[in-house]
Amino acid sequence: MQEKTLVLIKPDAVAKNHIGDIIKIYESNGLRVIAAKMMQMTDKLAAKHYVEHIGRPYYEGLVEFMTSAPLVAMVLKGEGAIAKVRELNGKTNPAEAAEGTIRKLYAENGSRNAVHASDSPESAAREIPLFFSAAEIFD
Ligand code: ADP
Ligand code: MG
Repeated sequence: MQEKTLVLIKPDAVAKNHIGDIIKIYESNGLRVIAAKMMQMTDKLAAKHYVEHIGRPYYEGLVEFMTSAPLVAMVLKGEGAIAKVRELNGKTNPAEAAEGTIRKLYAENGSRNAVHASDSPESAAREIPLFFSAAEIFD
């Protein structure tokens, strides 16, 4: 099934000049970029995007990191895009991520971990409109 998923290239990977390396991995695995922008996340957007994490011990640090510097937000489209992107990203903690995954290659640790991707069709449907209007998505 053709799916759309939200991807964020997080501030650590942007700062380390890995935007192109990461997009290359998605494109060479059959995914299309159908929306993209560089932006700095606000506290308000972070609270919406990470709503399910509010109250967890790492939440404050996560928001501080995500709002600290620019990130690149994208919508990727493709066959089974949601699961495919999660697989290409690798496990949350790079120490546990498989060889060749984006997090194994580029993440610093389990918080500053290079990328975000929607984890289900419901998450993708909720997250994409937080970052993009319909007119910004070239579907
Ligand atoms: P994923 O991004 O793989 O879907 P989660 O949804 O569990 O992972 O967590 C969202 C983000 O919160 C992670 O990508 C990471 O940046 C941060 N995070 C999650 N768990 C921890 C933790 N135990 N310590 C520090 N940061 C964490
Ligand atoms: Mg998640």
